[in-house]
Amino acid sequence: MNLIILGAPGSGKGTQARQLAEGAGVRHISSGDLLREAIARKTELGQQVEAIIGAGELVPDEVVLKLIMEALADSEGSNGWILDGYPRNPDQAEALEDVLSTNRQVVDAVIFLKVDADTIVERLLKRGRVDDTEDTIRTRLKVFEKETLPVVEFYELRYDVHEINGSMAIDEVANAIRELVDA
Ligand code: ADP
Repeated sequence: MNLIILGAPGSGKGTQARQLAEGAGVRHISSGDLLREAIARKTELGQQVEAIIGAGELVPDEVVLKLIMEALADSEGSNGWILDGYPRNPDQAEALEDVLSTNRQVVDAVIFLKVDADTIVERLLKRGRVDDTEDTIRTRLKVFEKETLPVVEFYELRYDVHEINGSMAIDEVANAIRELVDA
């Protein structure tokens, strides 16, 4: 089963993707985790992207695509994957369609976790990752609205996009996702 989970920063997509991946035995592919791992390991790529992430801007498409392609290749032979944080703009969505069709893979479901802006800011300030300062959060929300919301429209034209209320408790969101994935 191959899933894409979309949502604003702080929508809970990472938390949900992780749980779901464990439960369903599929690979959790988080672009943010892959980038943070590269930063922690001080790779050349990590050094390239550190300041961009700190500012809440998007890392160049080709940099993220490379990481995602490696992760997709790595997960061949598993039960599938759940993509979290990718695609984040329509060009990335197009690139992903190309990669998947080359690999003869399909997207089984697209999930959109919807959460209001106040809840997002409150959650992120509590989380306190290095990119969770008020200024950076504001930038990331703007980037989400401008770049990533169009990805939801991109998928609406191609697949069923399942909208789930991400303001509910973690377990309730997880149940709602499981119901639609099992259906
Ligand atoms: P959040 O969803 O809370 O913003 P992520 O861990 O998904 O957290 O992403 C953190 C940061 O990593 C983003 O603000 C951005 O700088 C970078 N990033 C993650 N995924 C992508 C992507 N697909 N394209 C460009 N930049 C990305």
